Amino acid sequence: MRTLQIHQYPYGNDNYGVLLHSTQTGETAAIDTGDAKATIGALEKTGWNLSEIWITHHHADHTAGLTSVKSATSAKCIGPHELSSPIKGLDTHIGDGESMMFAGVKVEVITTPGHTRDMINFYLPDEQLVFTGDTLFALGCGRLFEESAKTMHASLQKLMALPADTQVYCSHEYTLANAKFAITVDPDNQELQKRIKRIDSLRADGKPTVPTTIGEELATNPFLRFEDDDVRAVLGMQESSGAEVFAEIRQRKDNF
Ligand code: ZN
Ligand code: FE
Repeated sequence: MRTLQIHQYPYGNDNYGVLLHSTQTGETAAIDTGDAKATIGALEKTGWNLSEIWITHHHADHTAGLTSVKSATSAKCIGPHELSSPIKGLDTHIGDGESMMFAGVKVEVITTPGHTRDMINFYLPDEQLVFTGDTLFALGCGRLFEESAKTMHASLQKLMALPADTQVYCSHEYTLANAKFAITVDPDNQELQKRIKRIDSLRADGKPTVPTTIGEELATNPFLRFEDDDVRAVLGMQESSGAEVFAEIRQRKDNF
């Protein structure tokens, strides 16, 4: 049973921010603050008072509103250790194997370097909820700006090991473009074909395709299907390692 309430809101071209709220304690957390106006607008809409900000990684579309939101709300800011560009305004740094409590709920930090070196994801096992930032997207994964494909492959495996019914909140609405690529490397996957139809109709109605689930991604996201025989056959990589297959899929998407 989920105890926290979730409010997802769009900002920028294709970003999503999330507010997490406990009706029991009145506490509220914002995951990423790329746009102060959008976060403050979401707080006004929900009537929730912000107590914490959780930052996934240093990119501006996740952090640009941090200092403004912080001074408007006096929320405490938690984010990654300084492994790439510094993030202004963090009060606490948190990393691998560490956890924290939010409104009586356990929040585990999973480091998932790849897109950036400092990327962290927030996993709430009792709420069946994970915030994957720009690591795992619906039908996609983040571009490799600061780490190798091998490192990202290892990071994605940490997320793949979560229970299948875990809900995945990622930071971008890239799903339609991801779907167009996914079908090129996994053309006979019927689950993927069905999912693309659902995505098409959601987007035609202007609705989000996020959240997704770990189980849905395992079945249809090509970046998690590096061990799948059909995907390997399409790539002609039956004998390659999982990391090599992942690297090839990532490279094909970069050039798609
Ligand atoms: Zn990013
Ligand atoms: Fe981003």
